[in-house]
Parts: sequence; structure tokens; C-alpha cells
Amino acid sequence: LVNRAFHPDDTKVRINNIVFGEGGFQVISGPCSVENEDQIIQVARAVKESGATILRGGAYKPRSSPYSFQGLHQDGLRLLSLAKKETGLPIITEMTNMNQLEYFDDVDIIQIGARNMQNFDLLKEVGKCRKPVLLKRGLYNTIEEFLMSAEYIMAGGNEQIILCERGIRTIETMTRNTLDISAVPLLKKVSHLPVVIDPSHAAGIRSMVSPLSKASIAVGADGLMIETHNDPAKALCDGAQSLDLKQFDELMKEIRRRVEFE
Ligand code: PEP
Ligand code: MN
Repeated sequence: LVNRAFHPDDTKVRINNIVFGEGGFQVISGPCSVENEDQIIQVARAVKESGATILRGGAYKPRSSPYSFQGLHQDGLRLLSLAKKETGLPIITEMTNMNQLEYFDDVDIIQIGARNMQNFDLLKEVGKCRKPVLLKRGLYNTIEEFLMSAEYIMAGGNEQIILCERGIRTIETMTRNTLDISAVPLLKKVSHLPVVIDPSHAAGIRSMVSPLSKASIAVGADGLMIETHNDPAKALCDGAQSLDLKQFDELMKEIRRRVEFE
């Protein structure tokens, strides 16, 4: 189902008037985690003003340590909904467990995180939903495995899938992960699904988000997912890779300059 040989046309994933895979460029932005009302509203307003088209914010966080901030759960979803009402931006957030689905009515895109890329039961369940899904590539998964995970979702009848390259584990330790930039042209060649890049988790370093974003445009990605925070130094999660509101605004100006020239 994901194979372009049997589906030559590009799949378009639609959220109202926003389309992934139609040649346009979409930027998803927001904090790693929803932390409180002031934070998410402030970030939502700012990223909208800068030109982001979708708001992100984690509520169920898959943290490496059980002692790290785990997210606000249902209350986080409530605050995301509030930010959506406030700005009109559609929202994306990660689902880590199918029992959460009942709280996801107002969520526009379900994110399946890297750590759950091969949680096949979860993939089967989101395959039954009729909501767009953003599927992130696993930390240590091949492109073929990535596509087979998308296949699980499509096999359930849900064809609204956005693939997200977010860096993979390699021998390199100076970056959090290694952005596999070649995944974009390769995925677009063998499949018809839209592909976005998350340079924030790929690099883990704020100063690399802008150059990797430009590289993403150059290789033909359909969009970006970027972590942005109103006060990165105080972020409860992933502060080191988060842009502040001004840095995000500057990046959007550079992106607009490049996408317009395409
Ligand atoms: C995230 O988007 O905040 C996240 C946890 O990403 P990943 O699943 O790629 O690590
Ligand atoms: Mn994060």
C-alpha cells in the first residue's frame, strides 16, 4: 500500500485547508511538552504569527528516565485545545497508548513517536482511526522497517500518513542523533506519502536546527517539525534543542525566502 509502484500519485494529507504532499511546505512548531497555560498560549500565538501552520505539544511523554517530567496527560490535551481555540492552529500530539484515544477528539494529527514505531498493536489501532497520523522513524530502524510500519497503519484503512525522519542512532555522539537526510529522496522515490523532517530531535543542538531545516528544503521535504519554547533554559523537556520565539521567527523568514524560490 505504501509502495509508489502501485500508487503513482502523491498522497495528500489534509487538515482543513492545510495539505501535506501538494508541493507546499508546512511547518509544525511548538514546545516539546505542554507545561502550563501561559506557556502553550504564548508559544502558540508566537509561532502562528511567525507562520507555522500546525501547533505541536507533548502531553504523554515517552521519557528515557521515569524520574523525568512525564507530561500533563489529559490536562495537557485540554491546554492544547485551548491554544487551538485561541489561535485557530490545528494541533498534533503524541499518543503512546491506545487507551488515550478517547481524549483525542480535538487533536488533528496523532503523532506516533520514534519509540513506538514498531509498537504494532498501536499501529493497528491508529490504522482503524480516520485521523491523520504522523509516524516518526524509530531510533534504530531501517527505511524498509519504517515503511512497513506505515504499511501497518494503511492496512487498517487509514491512508492519511505523514512520515517523519527525526535522526537515527549512529556511531556519532556529538549530535543527539544523525539526521538521515537521504531518507527524504529515498522515501519519496519508493513511497507516495508526504515526508517531513524533525531537525530538533535529530541534532539535539539548537544552533543546528536552522542549517538542517534548510537542508530539508533542499532535498524536497514536505515540511518540518521544530521545537520552540518561550524560555528554552527553563523548559521541562528538550530545552537544549528548542528555539526561542525570536529564533523561530528568524528561521521562518529564511524558510519563506527559500520555499518561495522553489
Ligand atoms: C517528540 O516529538 O517530542 C518526541 C518525543 O520525538 P521522538 O519520538 O522522535 O523522540
Ligand atoms: Mn522533544
